[in-house]
Amino acid sequence: MALQIYNVLHREKQPFEPLHEGKVNMYVCGPTVYDHAHVGHAKTYVSFDVVVRYLRWRGYDVLYVQNLTDVGHLLDTGEDRVLKKARQAQALPMQIVETYARSYFEDMDALGVVRPDISPRASCHIPDQIKMIQTLIEKGHAYVTEQGNVYFDVYSWPEYGKLSNRRLDDQEAGARVDVRDDKRHAEDFALWKAAEPEHILRWDSPWGEGYPGWHIECSAMATKYLGPTFDIHGGGVDNIFPHNECEIAQSEAANGVPFARYWMLVGSLTVPDEFGIPVKMSKSLGNFYTIKDALKLHRPEVLRTFILTSHYRNPIVFSEEALDSARKGWERIYGAVRLVRSKLNNAPSGEAGNAFLDVLTQARQRFVEAMDDDFNAPGGLAMLYDLTREVNTLLNSGQPVSKTVLEAIDATYRELGGAVLGIVPEETAVAGTGNAEREEGLIQMLVDLRAQARAERDFGTADRIRARLAELGIALEDRPDGTVWRVD
Ligand code: AMP
Ligand code: ZN
Repeated sequence: MALQIYNVLHREKQPFEPLHEGKVNMYVCGPTVYDHAHVGHAKTYVSFDVVVRYLRWRGYDVLYVQNLTDVGHLLDTGEDRVLKKARQAQALPMQIVETYARSYFEDMDALGVVRPDISPRASCHIPDQIKMIQTLIEKGHAYVTEQGNVYFDVYSWPEYGKLSNRRLDDQEAGARVDVRDDKRHAEDFALWKAAEPEHILRWDSPWGEGYPGWHIECSAMATKYLGPTFDIHGGGVDNIFPHNECEIAQSEAANGVPFARYWMLVGSLTVPDEFGIPVKMSKSLGNFYTIKDALKLHRPEVLRTFILTSHYRNPIVFSEEALDSARKGWERIYGAVRLVRSKLNNAPSGEAGNAFLDVLTQARQRFVEAMDDDFNAPGGLAMLYDLTREVNTLLNSGQPVSKTVLEAIDATYRELGGAVLGIVPEETAVAGTGNAEREEGLIQMLVDLRAQARAERDFGTADRIRARLAELGIALEDRPDGTVWRVD
């Protein structure tokens, strides 16, 4: 069966038919680079990473564009996020942008997220945005006010609300235009804002000095790099309204053709509040963990496994228990991969264990079925857990297993768990000298000896053991319930 995608625009699963056969043009709303990314961002970008990896693995030629928002994304107070941070840090706005753009890519690289093909910045595309705004004014979908602001007239676009399933007359703001506002209707949104004197992120425009509204950047940059109509548009579901809705209205009104054909939106990562009620992790609420902090405690593959245990459209609760269970699951898979690779060196030639090749074929089929069903990564993971059980049974049976079979098992893990899900590393950490279990036993023995040294207050020995292990790339983490080790 063909790949199916749940298209938010049509509120149903649909067979995926790209505009140009074999080619996928895809745009995902990127982060606003004014602070370090948090694990909520990781959920959205790891989810789309798996989408891109799977499409490529299935043979599509994917062009993946993901923007960096560096201007125009305002806080509820009306302040620009980047400007506020620049003022606090006594830095230039573009220093802030550079710092956090680098930080974002550092985090994504650490998480094994494949970089987008193009990462356009809003501030580098001001002329494209101005041009689109001019087209909207010419076509009667936007108007300029005396104050030098430009707004999109939502009543000029009957389809406004089609993505988020809202009707203009339902909208809470529908009531009255704020007296301080120069809009025609309360629901109209800004395309261009005249800059106050202290607003130093400003550009010349036909309407005076100012800066673009947040939504127009995605319309202008998606159109520029992918054309007026393209295949997939993604982002976090929290941005469905107003951001994504406005993107569609602006783009379709300006270009006169449909914008993205498939809309894929990722459910939010939440954290329980003081009453245990899940609340979306966000910077403004202050309930966030940065990816950097999370990576101090967990391997990147474990964070990915945690994110992939829930379908991308579903929300997920961030908790230590959930991460711990992801770690256990991942370690089972990783342990089996390590065992397979360690046995490869001394494996016999011949056909021993050939029957297992059928198991691998079936596993592959199951994986493809799951992923073809709207990128059901939890289904793909479940297949890997089942396969791992069978691999362990095979390898613990005492029966000989040929090199060919071991290589086929390793290749299955590398492709499905590695290339697609990004949770099986290329190299197994401790160089295979032939017996992974023995290596693990040796590491554990050193961890135990260190614990004993600490108990005897021999901190010198304890520190030397930790340092020597660190030199070998093995990190120790002391938790209340004991010390765990991981390979960095
Ligand atoms: P922002 O940096 O707030 O502009 O967000 C960048 C992207 O991350 C958007 O697509 C958001 O929808 C997404 N995002 C932000 N917070 C979360 C969260 N808690 N869970 C999932 N995605 C999120
Ligand atoms: Zn966007």
